[in-house]
Amino acid sequence: MICRRAHCLYKFSFLMGVVLLCSGVIGASQKNQASSKLRVMTSIFPLKEFAQAVCGSRGKVSLLLPPGAQIHTWQPRPSDIFSLSSADVFIYVGAHLEPWAHDILKSVQKKSLRVMEASEGLSLIKKNIPHKKHESPGLDPHIWLDFGKDQILVDRMSRLFSKVDPEGAHVFKKNARIYKQKLQNLHKKYKRSLQECEHRTFLLGGHAAFGYLAEKYNLNQISLYGVNPHSEPTPQQLVKVVKLAEKHNIKVVFFEINVSDKLAKVIAEEIEGRTMVLNPGASLTRSQYKSGVTFIDIMEKNLESLKNGLNCK
Ligand SMILES: [Zn+2]
Repeated sequence: MICRRAHCLYKFSFLMGVVLLCSGVIGASQKNQASSKLRVMTSIFPLKEFAQAVCGSRGKVSLLLPPGAQIHTWQPRPSDIFSLSSADVFIYVGAHLEPWAHDILKSVQKKSLRVMEASEGLSLIKKNIPHKKHESPGLDPHIWLDFGKDQILVDRMSRLFSKVDPEGAHVFKKNARIYKQKLQNLHKKYKRSLQECEHRTFLLGGHAAFGYLAEKYNLNQISLYGVNPHSEPTPQQLVKVVKLAEKHNIKVVFFEINVSDKLAKVIAEEIEGRTMVLNPGASLTRSQYKSGVTFIDIMEKNLESLKNGLNCK
């Protein structure tokens, strides 16, 4: 867990109090909105895009986390529990990506809320990094960077939304088919573009978010931080990464857009290379939101960076 136990307990009981206060208000407003659109809430941006693509104009999808928030470390406020209480469906990744999910779901006293844990039932990559005190053990949660798994999620959303809004079933199914085609095209483009490259190993100055992508396209990910971006790397790790980069003759260090590029720059200088952006896409900055950038756009941009950085034909 991110916070100390006593602190968590205090926070939790405070949140419970607020929820009890709010539940009366929600009960009243629900009656007025019975005929309105399907309301979906998701934890991260890619899930929001998938859900919105599936429900189309029959639903409204919002994000629980504010723009720029770091998914691994965010903590819910009472107002977040309140807004989650007004949703019909909540979709989150699971596999310890959102350490707060369990508590917030316990706080939401709404029996009709349908919950989809996206990672459930998917085959997940085991993390092969040593467990640190604050790092969750086990599985790699960055499943949205596998466009095949994303297609499974889109189908599951379509089925779930049909349970809440049966009249929309045919629309959800059709929308799901259209969006899955986009994901499939993206996958084909990645496969084609990353087939013949000078390098198959890429170096991340950030955390190991691209395990699924690497596995799918036969690449090898070396990262400085492990799976959690907020565990500081040790000097020994830095040295190890620089040595690996030299061994593989790597001249590009990728860094994440929402995490400091300081260490990426240090490594780049050490190996006399350059830095490039690779965006996991879990959360957007405020300005990215305003620009209307899509998950597919972000992934296309990543592909350009990878092609460039790995020197692909
Ligand atoms: Zn991550």
